[in-house]
Amino acid sequence: MSHEGIRIVSENEARRAALFESKQKLTTDAVTPQKVRVHKTEGTGMEIDWRDGHKSAWNFAWLRNACPCATCHDEREKSDRAPGVPKPQPITLLPLYEAPARPVEITPVGKYALRFKWSDGHESGIYSWDYLRRVCLCAECVPLGVTR
Ligand SMILES: [Zn+2]
Ligand SMILES: [Zn+2]
Repeated sequence: MSHEGIRIVSENEARRAALFESKQKLTTDAVTPQKVRVHKTEGTGMEIDWRDGHKSAWNFAWLRNACPCATCHDEREKSDRAPGVPKPQPITLLPLYEAPARPVEITPVGKYALRFKWSDGHESGIYSWDYLRRVCLCAECVPLGVTR
């Protein structure tokens, strides 16, 4: 008996496959927000109620680490990090406390996306409804055992 053809699927690969699958199923209603709540003053995060009845929620730190701009995307690809996963902290003798990024400005981009300007100065991320729906963190979208 040969074990050829059996390969270890990393968590990231499994996640990408899950993302791809969920992308296939997206309808117009699934990527059309009905209600968007951005808790900017409270600094907690953002919630979206979609037209198909689905609900998504993210905290700001997660969203900052899931920035879809080319620079952040490439950086995550290189270090094999899923959207939302923070960069590994450099080991220092005296770690400095870094406040989690908060949005200072959120502007709609046409009808399809939101642009976040973060407290760390980064502002090239355009979060499309399609992207946000694909990175939904609810139990239904993130199957058990698949971490994002
Ligand atoms: Zn970015
Ligand atoms: Zn979901």
